[in-house]
Amino acid sequence: MTTFLEHDPRTGAALGEYEETATAAVGAAAAAAERAFAATRHRPNRRRVAWLAAIADAFDAVGDDLLAVADAETALGPTRLTGEWARTRAQVRAFAALVADDAYLDAVTDAPDPNSVPPRGDLRQMLVPIGPVANFAASNFPFAFSVPGGDTIAALAAGCPVVVKAHPSHPDTSRRCAALISGALRDAGAPDGMFAMVEGASIDVGSALVLAPEITAVAFTGSRRGGRALYDLAATRPVPIPVYAEMGSVNPVFVTEAALAARGDAIADGFAASMLNGTGQFCTSPGVVVVPVGEAGDRFVTRVSMVIAEAPPGVMLNATIRDGLVEQLARTKLLTGVTDAAGGGLSPRGFAVGATLLATDAASFIATPELRDEHFGPVAVIVRAEPGAMPSVARAIPGSLTGTIHAEAAEAGGEEVAELRDALVERVGRLVWNGFPTGVAISPAMHHGGPYPATTHSGFTSVGQASVRRFLRPVTFQDVPEGALPSALH
Ligand code: NAP
Repeated sequence: MTTFLEHDPRTGAALGEYEETATAAVGAAAAAAERAFAATRHRPNRRRVAWLAAIADAFDAVGDDLLAVADAETALGPTRLTGEWARTRAQVRAFAALVADDAYLDAVTDAPDPNSVPPRGDLRQMLVPIGPVANFAASNFPFAFSVPGGDTIAALAAGCPVVVKAHPSHPDTSRRCAALISGALRDAGAPDGMFAMVEGASIDVGSALVLAPEITAVAFTGSRRGGRALYDLAATRPVPIPVYAEMGSVNPVFVTEAALAARGDAIADGFAASMLNGTGQFCTSPGVVVVPVGEAGDRFVTRVSMVIAEAPPGVMLNATIRDGLVEQLARTKLLTGVTDAAGGGLSPRGFAVGATLLATDAASFIATPELRDEHFGPVAVIVRAEPGAMPSVARAIPGSLTGTIHAEAAEAGGEEVAELRDALVERVGRLVWNGFPTGVAISPAMHHGGPYPATTHSGFTSVGQASVRRFLRPVTFQDVPEGALPSALH
């Protein structure tokens, strides 16, 4: 059994509560989504632009009480939440602008050519919406990757109805955001079923959603275990569907000898700040840093250790994530070749934890898969590498959202850095140069994805305008007369 709530679209206050089986409730939302899709799939884009504008307006009109609710549920603090809410609103406007222009439909036309081998007719291709989308909200971003976040907005922009599974870590925030979206869509004339939220801290809800026959694609942000389970489940359906899961990532940072010599302290401070940002609970948190053996590397470790020791404890998102990290760290510390560099443990007090830096050598890192698993929280592994060993360390990294190189301009074109760069490009979706991986811009050139296990599909991004592509599929129209063609192909 699971509980579903109806809300006042303006205040988010609960209007009523009812219980039914997860399967029936999810089934109703999925069936309504399919009806909404049938009613809207051939409508002009400008209607969706208006819907997204209405959502953005509704978000802009929200007062500080939404942030207060989110803060009470997540303890992320007003500064972080204000920034995240601004980002979430900007995202809606960015997608409205994207679909205001047919360019996102990627129309391609090939003129008929009877002399080509084989001969071809008049071919015109464009993207069409895939159908109702199931979206699994993330725990670590109550706005930007949750109910009102990028996956919901990208799917709506594509023309796909959305059924979002709220994350149990921030239920009231989710309900208020869902009420805002539902109210804005209704006021803007969107059909019922274009958006729905389901909830319930049970995998029954998510499983029923993925298995609902009307659902045509799944977006997910969370753990590798959860993402993989949903991916496998989707493959068991009579009609399998794509699952775009964004999961764990270690986001390695490599620092060359020359970069250490030129600006070691600044890199150490930047790395520590990036690692501690959000108490390490970002999918882009740097979990591995590779520095050369020797004195400059020792100084780097000392500096990062000092910053970590002085940092106030951070707050974990929920008890499951905290306890999982404490247990994982206890296991990692027992591995051969691993020593404490700083912190020594998380020392949890309630939800507050300290940061920890573990140290190892390149050979142990390469030989020990557990060292290359994401520690979701303020934990990083520092790998001390002999000269020339960095590319081998990079090749051992599992698929990751990002990889970072700190190098000096003079060595950028050199063979050693080029080998490291090439090794990283094979492993990551975004290569960061002389920067840090946390902070993901919403822009057309952004790729927030990467080879498995960072995601289940390395060809797609879950941030930026290109993320809409997950919810579109190409169709070729062959020799179709203009009167019967979609206007984008005229
Ligand atoms: P999670 O456990 O993967 O859960 C995410 C969502 O998926 C929840 O709504 C959960 O439902 C649902 N779910 C998980 N497994 C499922 C299954 N087998 N069948 C159906 N539904 C399922 O992620 P989390 O709770 O956010 O955090 C746990 C871990 O995820 C963290 O420790 C961290 O390693 C990772 N994480 C990664 C990212 C990232 O950005 N890649 C973000 C957040 C967390 P219920 O909870 O309602 O059962």
